[in-house]
Amino acid sequence: METTLRGVGVSHGVAIGQVRHMGTAVLEPPVKQIPAEEAEREQGRARQAVEAVAADLVARGNLAGGEAQAVLEAQAMMAQDPELIADVERRITVGSTAERAVYDAFAAYRALLAGAGEYLAGRVADLDDVRNRIVARLLGVPMPGVPDSDEPYVLVARDLAPADTALLDPSLVLGFVTEEGGPTSHSAILARALGVPAVVALPGATELAEGTVIAVDGSTGEIVVEPGEEKKAQLEALAAERKAALSASTGPGATSDGHKVPLLANIGGPADVAAAVEAGAEGVGLFRTEFLFLDDNKNAPSEEKQVAAYRQVLEAFPESRVVVRVLDAGADKPLDFLTPADEPNPALGVRGLRTLLDHPEVLRTQLTALAKAAEGLPVYLEVMAPMVADRADAKAFADACREAGLRAKFGAMVEIPSAALRARAILQEVEFLSLGTNDLAQYTFAADRQVGAVSRLQDPWQPALLDLVAMAAEAAKAEGKSCGVCGEAASDPLLACVLTGLGVTSLSMGAASIPYVRAALAKYTLAQCERAAAAARAADSAEEARQAAQAVLSGE
Ligand code: PEP
Ligand code: MG
Repeated sequence: METTLRGVGVSHGVAIGQVRHMGTAVLEPPVKQIPAEEAEREQGRARQAVEAVAADLVARGNLAGGEAQAVLEAQAMMAQDPELIADVERRITVGSTAERAVYDAFAAYRALLAGAGEYLAGRVADLDDVRNRIVARLLGVPMPGVPDSDEPYVLVARDLAPADTALLDPSLVLGFVTEEGGPTSHSAILARALGVPAVVALPGATELAEGTVIAVDGSTGEIVVEPGEEKKAQLEALAAERKAALSASTGPGATSDGHKVPLLANIGGPADVAAAVEAGAEGVGLFRTEFLFLDDNKNAPSEEKQVAAYRQVLEAFPESRVVVRVLDAGADKPLDFLTPADEPNPALGVRGLRTLLDHPEVLRTQLTALAKAAEGLPVYLEVMAPMVADRADAKAFADACREAGLRAKFGAMVEIPSAALRARAILQEVEFLSLGTNDLAQYTFAADRQVGAVSRLQDPWQPALLDLVAMAAEAAKAEGKSCGVCGEAASDPLLACVLTGLGVTSLSMGAASIPYVRAALAKYTLAQCERAAAAARAADSAEEARQAAQAVLSGE
């Protein structure tokens, strides 16, 4: 029966496909005593599961090739370790179920590895993964991690962390639905980067049955469960209609009276460049460099690896601006080699620039790599620091850039309310500001961006957030410097007009949003955008702000 659910739409478009759940951490199987006569059957089940998991790992290795193959083959060997299997069988003989015996035998082996020096301790995560796979198979629940599927699917999860999604095959993911996460969570950001529709903060998402067909409307936030043929056709027609309206919009970003607002792309690495160029991005407004290092987040990336990745991006944008953000590790983007594991509240701990000032060698390597990558290229390189709190932070970053001999503009992200409040002081040290509205909302409203239950407060239409944006933009204007927005707020076409009216000088977003924002801006004059901005700021809630801006722009 067709039912409709509603979450928050965060990435445009319509996707219709089967639900596949992101496997969750494997539950601890209950301790249960089995009768002696069942032992042999349980041992057979355990052996079969081990063999199947090992074969699957080898097959995945063959497909992946390279370093991944070596890792997967080593995992397959772990699964088949004769001593481990003997331990599993012994535990079953004394009354364990197969799944509990695997769980306990791996726990004993894990303790040995963890205490056996740095190299072997580093393999514990691989061992856990093998255990999770065998236990999941025995329990008949989905494999942990990215779904195993050869068919395209709609990925459903509690929330998605960047590390979970590094392994996703973009050609198979039709769309995302998450139960948690707000409009600025990484699920939302990733969906926009992939250009697939997404709905977040959907209550009950994780209870959708595996394999159910759903239709996801990433513009309205609507999910139709088991849509009938008529509904499917209606949604597909709507998506086609929206797309057609966009193809009319080309060229640089500007209001209808010619006030230029460069439209830039947010990227996570060279893989996102093609989509940015295709969408007509006028440059890059946010290169999230930490995304490059998620595949091996145990080691600091080498200078050579960084130079190669940066150069690929810089080469793609001749005569254009490319704003590179130095590593923003911590909180929702932890990197094992940098992020402290024991912080009570990582979002308020050592993250972003704070981490880099604690690890000056990592910052130096990155800045040197950027300087080398830009050598001889006709690009306008700009480098900015995440999570700048005050003028001292801005100065420390600018000093580090100068010491590294970087020939670029240095800037500060405004993500903490203190930076917006004291933007003029920060601009004494750096040449531009870039508003990270995702974190700015998180810190202004004390609302964790990863928690769906507080998504109301992460809404970038909140008038208090608009006030802080206005404050930073005015400070930049007074100092004769630029102030862009690179948070997800820039990807909402109506809000983009309001941000322009507040005085921001560029808008940076996932490539897929550029045509929508371009088309919206081209419809209104700067004066209309300013009136919409004033009306939004005068409102008392996000919803009222949105309605007030809409009313001004549609001439109501
Ligand atoms: C932001 O916080 O708005 C931002 C652009 O940075 P990130 O989303 O990567 O934290
Ligand atoms: Mg941020």
